[in-house]
Amino acid sequence: MPQYHIWTIGCQMNKAESERLGSYLERLGYVPTDSAEAADFIVLNSCVVRQSAESRVVNKLKALKAFKRLHPETTVAVTGCLVNSNINQLRQQFPHVDDFFRPGTYPDRLGGTAGQDVLPQQPSPCTFVPITQGCDNFCTYCIVPYRRGRQKSRPPGEIACEVSELVRRGVKEATLLGQNVDSYGCDLPEKPDLAGLLYELNSIEGLARIRFLTDHPKDMSTRLIEAVASLDKVCPLINLPVQAGSDEVLKAMRRGYTAAHYRELIGQIRAKVPDVALSTDVIVGFPGESETQFEQTADLLAKLKFDTIHVAAYSVRPGTVAARELADDIPPAEKKRRLDKIERLQERIAAEINAGLLGQTVEVLVENRKGDKWQGRTRTGKLVFFSGTGDYPGQLVNIKIEKTSPWSLQGRVEHKEAK
Ligand code: SF4
Repeated sequence: MPQYHIWTIGCQMNKAESERLGSYLERLGYVPTDSAEAADFIVLNSCVVRQSAESRVVNKLKALKAFKRLHPETTVAVTGCLVNSNINQLRQQFPHVDDFFRPGTYPDRLGGTAGQDVLPQQPSPCTFVPITQGCDNFCTYCIVPYRRGRQKSRPPGEIACEVSELVRRGVKEATLLGQNVDSYGCDLPEKPDLAGLLYELNSIEGLARIRFLTDHPKDMSTRLIEAVASLDKVCPLINLPVQAGSDEVLKAMRRGYTAAHYRELIGQIRAKVPDVALSTDVIVGFPGESETQFEQTADLLAKLKFDTIHVAAYSVRPGTVAARELADDIPPAEKKRRLDKIERLQERIAAEINAGLLGQTVEVLVENRKGDKWQGRTRTGKLVFFSGTGDYPGQLVNIKIEKTSPWSLQGRVEHKEAK
């Protein structure tokens, strides 16, 4: 039987699309292999959201050039955000690649069509469900709208059918994905919204948990916060990227909100969902970011105390407004200093928050085994490791926390099944 291998980097959307692409290839008779060398069909699912990710993709493509010389019979295909509208240029740049196909579609040579209708045959207990593609926001630093296009939402009925089918195949937790889930539905004739979708999905029997990401501070509604507060299956975990704590920088990024609005929103969420865990994304070293403006970001993060922060140093993405109009004027060493400072700050905050869970019993949805431990996540998204001889994947297990760190928790089984 022919074998396929998919190499994926980047966001959860890429992971979801790779899972569905694998399922599509299996329908065509391919079987998966962990070894690219053994594969008949290799796919690189790429990310170019930052220069570091793009460099990894290009290095991988260079390594495959030598491989393709030795194995001309192997098909090499590339998808993901490297694939722009100018596929001819990509073909010239990487002549050893047999096929380029846009994110969310399938390879042309296999009769590719839009990829949403192929569900993983054996999904993991926790799976991703794309609900929108693309983005209409055009933040000045971001390449995503140029590569994934304008926002396109899937009808709620189609998503509900898909989640029901995934549950039938063993899924316990569905994470709804979109570049901006808070504007879900505004491009559909009936104008459904994310809150309405959550109410609909919450009634699916057998589904234990629902998550969603990524939110946008300018679009998050009170109705959505109330849905999170009131629906039993919706996890109290919100990823709300702030990107910067300075109004001038937020304006230059064209984020559409102020730091004060963001703080108010966090206050509203915490008032309505007291057990909520919050995560955020931050960019340091944006063009023109002064020391004072950077300190405003650090101050906001220190005061709001997030469970998790994803911090990145700004990198120029050709084709974006920032690349065209703003000088990348913060030296790399200074960007690194700012990034390290945020990471050290967050390590202290996360250590403190997680230490509060010591001795508590938490509900963990077990995903898989890592080394000699099982791993899973709490409703608030905390990674938990524990030992045990049971057949745990897909089960909700009560774990008493015995050890904490900024990044994960460890404990022991208290009762095998929580539900
Ligand atoms: S909201 Fe902004 S950062 Fe997020 S995908 Fe859209 S353009 Fe990019």
